[in-house]
Amino acid sequence: MTLSALSYNPQTAKSFIDEVIERSHQNLYACYQCRRCASGCTVGEETGITPDYLIRLVTLGDRDAAVDNALVWQCVSCYTCGTRCPNNIQSGRITETLKKMSREEDVIPLNPNIAYFHDAFVQGCTRWGRVNEMEFMGYYELKNIGKHMLSFQFRKAYEEIASQIKLGRSMFKQKRLHLKLHTSRGRKEVKQFYKIAVKKKASLKKERRSQIKNRQE
Ligand code: SF4
Ligand code: SF4
Repeated sequence: MTLSALSYNPQTAKSFIDEVIERSHQNLYACYQCRRCASGCTVGEETGITPDYLIRLVTLGDRDAAVDNALVWQCVSCYTCGTRCPNNIQSGRITETLKKMSREEDVIPLNPNIAYFHDAFVQGCTRWGRVNEMEFMGYYELKNIGKHMLSFQFRKAYEEIASQIKLGRSMFKQKRLHLKLHTSRGRKEVKQFYKIAVKKKASLKKERRSQIKNRQE
């Protein structure tokens, strides 16, 4: 029996599962734990958490474990789980929803590099309407190397720089790395979308903080 099962609170569990259903548009109540999704999950073995287990955490109302685990951050949105599910549950949408919740609650991901990757992607898309490899890698590596430097792990920082130079050279040779910055035609619209999303995120964050405060009281 899991800790969540022992501390099960029907009221908080219901409000959490309903929130995940509403935001992911997936009917978690339909899951009967057949584990067909688990056998096909691309990252399940590496993360140690499979989609069925994640759904179980949500239905048991274990919010902390559901928003802060490796599958939420390492899911590659391949949707293999959804194609195998007899109830058409797209767990990739659930991981995406939980990832958003985790950001709203300022949870530091188990692997911060994944959050740097997301940030680098969003930064580039907002500015240019698309990703430019040089800028993307620069932003990502600055954060990554900065993290090593701040924790006095100079050897790791050096190794990271060396490996990125090697990767950059190889990509450049294969014409996969472009020095010129490219823009997309709809970048103004992308910027607008981003602004709307930031506003929405701020109001959700406020709402979530007050919910957390209420839960702790
Ligand atoms: S395949 Fe569908 S019903 Fe079966 S455990 Fe996975 S999500 Fe639940
Ligand atoms: S979408 Fe995510 S959870 Fe589903 S199989 Fe792919 S990696 Fe696993």
